[in-house]
Amino acid sequence: MSDLAAELRTRIAREGYVTVADYMNAVAGAYYARGDVFGAKGDFTTAPEISQTFGEIIGLWCAVAWQQMGQPGPFKLIECGPGRGTLMADLLRAAKQVPSFVQSADIHFVERSRALRDMQRESLKEYSVTWHDDFAAVPPGPSIIIGNEFLDALPIRQFQRTETGWAERVVKLKNGSFVFDTHAVDNAPIPIPVAMSAEVGEIYEYSDAVAAFVAEVSQRLVNNGGAALLIDYGHTASAVGETLQAVKQHQYVAVLDNPGAADLTAHVDFAAVKNTARLNNAAVFGPLEQGTWLKQLGIGVRQMQLARGKPAEVARTIEQGVRRLTEPHGMGVLFKAIALAGPGLQLEGFTT
Ligand code: SAH
Repeated sequence: MSDLAAELRTRIAREGYVTVADYMNAVAGAYYARGDVFGAKGDFTTAPEISQTFGEIIGLWCAVAWQQMGQPGPFKLIECGPGRGTLMADLLRAAKQVPSFVQSADIHFVERSRALRDMQRESLKEYSVTWHDDFAAVPPGPSIIIGNEFLDALPIRQFQRTETGWAERVVKLKNGSFVFDTHAVDNAPIPIPVAMSAEVGEIYEYSDAVAAFVAEVSQRLVNNGGAALLIDYGHTASAVGETLQAVKQHQYVAVLDNPGAADLTAHVDFAAVKNTARLNNAAVFGPLEQGTWLKQLGIGVRQMQLARGKPAEVARTIEQGVRRLTEPHGMGVLFKAIALAGPGLQLEGFTT
């Protein structure tokens, strides 16, 4: 039995259950501690690992946002959950077209996994980077914040409709195995929109962790100026439905089997992100489908530049990568970009 499974068993024996959020949090810690879980040989592939154009487009977007901010030097360039560090490396390479942007960037990574920090250090060895376990630890100042597939990894709570109302979904032990069950919600207010109707058995997901993160980001942008770009998979309206999933070697596996062996994520509720940002006085741009957003920012032109003069096979690989990022049957529609800003910014790519 893994250390994590043993630890979860002890906790459940002592407390009766763990919430879905506690379970997800514990699994994320153990899972990402393993290091390189990305790419064809790993468990899942993310946009920056598919095509360098993704990070390059984001780099130019950041440079334009920085110009609109009045070119503060220095400013904080913060990435949350940088994975292998590929996105930041591509971003900085492309942004060298605006040398003063790169020179003014004080780079901060929010990353808990020590093994991934080592990979990130290797990818960014030309640069000076500071790491933090939590976003709140990044020192204040004008900021550009990015996160790709960061929100989907943050813990969600699940609520299940029962005959008598909503109950929190929890994980217990039955005959030695982890099973889902429900637990009456005591006095804690349940974060479910009053109008949300559901059949008995249906599930509503809400992430306190995403809300807390978005609130902190918004407050930083409002107080210190700047912009945040969050790209993830998810839905634009809050709705009932279970989206928590476990993925190992590019296949779905059962969420409660072998905790820590698979990546656990949930769809991001972009309506909730937008509400939290607005409640904290940030301006919100989008969400917009990733394909639309990337095309508006010129991913097609970048693809042509990269392919020019290259052998047909290389040009085809570049094209395939861009198609996977932008087409509806790839990541173009399910994935969405949302941006948040402090006062006075008009962020690129969001006008439709
Ligand atoms: N952005 C990368 C990796 C996405 S995977 C890419 O697009 O390839 C999620 C990343 O978030 C990993 O780097 C993981 O270690 C990090 N992460 C997950 N939960 C976290 C948390 N609570 N705090 C800090 N980092 C976290």
